[in-house]
This record gives sequence, structure tokens and C-alpha cells, in this order.
Amino acid sequence: MTEIIIAEHSGFCFGVKRAIDTAYKTVKGSKNKKVYVLGEIIHNPKVVNELSNLGVEKIEKLEEIKKTKKSILIIRSHGVSKKILAKSEKLGIEVVDTTCPFVKKLELIIDELIKENYKIIVLGDKFHPEISSLNDSFDNKLLIVESLEELENLGIQKSNRIALLSQTTQSLKKFRDCVNYLVDKCLELRIFNTICKSTEQRQLSSLELAKNADVIFVVGGKNSANTRRLYEICKNINSSTYHIEDETEIKKKYLQGKKKIGITAGASTPQDTINEIVKKLEKMIN
Ligand code: SF4
Repeated sequence: MTEIIIAEHSGFCFGVKRAIDTAYKTVKGSKNKKVYVLGEIIHNPKVVNELSNLGVEKIEKLEEIKKTKKSILIIRSHGVSKKILAKSEKLGIEVVDTTCPFVKKLELIIDELIKENYKIIVLGDKFHPEISSLNDSFDNKLLIVESLEELENLGIQKSNRIALLSQTTQSLKKFRDCVNYLVDKCLELRIFNTICKSTEQRQLSSLELAKNADVIFVVGGKNSANTRRLYEICKNINSSTYHIEDETEIKKKYLQGKKKIGITAGASTPQDTINEIVKKLEKMIN
């Protein structure tokens, strides 16, 4: 008998759910104002298309908003540079800020560290909006590293006072590796584990799943950083791991000889998508 196991923590996190609910509420109450979102509201094509059909327009830069006083700009959960917020205000654009509080926390910590003259290192993806916005807010003063190797190449001096933070969706293992490396490399080290609770829970339960299942489907947008991280974690333990966006990507050959099918999903994956995948798998195995 084949069974389907769903990771204990998977799918929408608090921050993403809050951003999407706010986006739907905003467009519903927008009256004669045009609603924009800076970048994709979440890294999930289904949700992006649905909001677009309701009239929410995705833009890449503020300059794309023409009638600024008749516009609402939604800031997604990844946050945005302080400079963009200030510019929007100046242009008279109504801003609905859904930046996740966990992302805001990073900004607050960095604010303090800058005043205290720490060399600030952030473990994160340089081009991820959360990190590029943060760096822009602080005039590119942050040292962003994507791996332990990049950290080693920074040439940290024994006399440095270092503060280490992490992108909210980073891998806990990578963060620990960086902490271990820095411990005896500098005069003073301050560590802020800014990986959010939802990310940590999803990583740990995906790890458990990967140990127990014969095949694993990691569900979420291919451009979703936290989903890709879950994929790496599972693939490391179980080579029969597949990153899929929806049920159409499941192939019969993936299930051959497998008795335990595991499903985990990134923080930007809607429950509907997970349900459709379960439905399809049940059809295929019965
Ligand atoms: S993954 Fe964490 S930081 Fe990102 S939106 Fe969700 S709760 Fe917030």
C-alpha cells in the first residue's frame, strides 16, 4: 500500500498569507484608484495571475506609475528599500506596506549596528529582493555573502568587530557554518539569527520528510528562494526529490517502486496547489 505524507510545516507562511490577504482587500476597496505591486507579490505564478486578473498591475520601478495621486502601491512581504518608500511618499502615492515583520526586524537591527560601527555581514542571496532592498537602504554598506566560501574570501582581520545576520529564508546549516568560521577570526562577534521561524520549521520538517519518504515532491515557484532551499535539503538526503510548481509536472516514472510519497511546499505555495497535487497522486497510485 502506497502512502502520501505531507510535511508537518508546509505552504503559506504567516508573512505571505498576510501580504496576499492585504492585496485582495486593497484591490476590493480601491474604488477608482489603480493598484500596483512592486515586483511579484509572491513567487507563485498562480497567485500572481489571479491578482493580475483582478486589476493589480505588477511594475518593476516607481516611474511606471503615471497618475501617482490616484494610485495605490502594495509593498510585498520581501520589503523595499527605504529610499523607494520615501520617494513614493513624496510623489503622493498611497502605500500599503505588507513587509513581513521578520524582514523589518533585520532593518532595525542593522540600523543599530551601523551606529555602533560594526562591519555587517549578511548571509543571503545578493539579488534576492529582500537583500538587495536592505543593502540599498543602507547605501550598500552591507557585506553580502552567499556561502561560507565567499565569507572566507572577505579577508576578515582579527581586529574586526563583526556582526553576522541572515536573510530570513536562509539555510540554518549554512548560517551555523558561517558562525563557526567567524568565532575565532575576529575580536568581537555579534550573531543575530534572523532566519524566520516559518523558514526554520519548513526546513526541519522537510528534513524529517526526506528521511522517511521514498520520493519527495517539493512544491513551489521555480523562482522561490525558500522553495529552492527546501529542494536542496531534501535532495541532499534523497536523490528522488523533484521540485514542481503544480500537478502537471508529476511523471509516472517518479513513482515507480515507491511506497512512501512525501510532499513539502515553500512558504509561497497556496494550499489549493498542494491539494491538487495530492488529488493527482491519489489517482495515480490507486
Ligand atoms: S518566509 Fe518568513 S520572513 Fe518571509 S514572509 Fe514568510 S514569515 Fe515572513
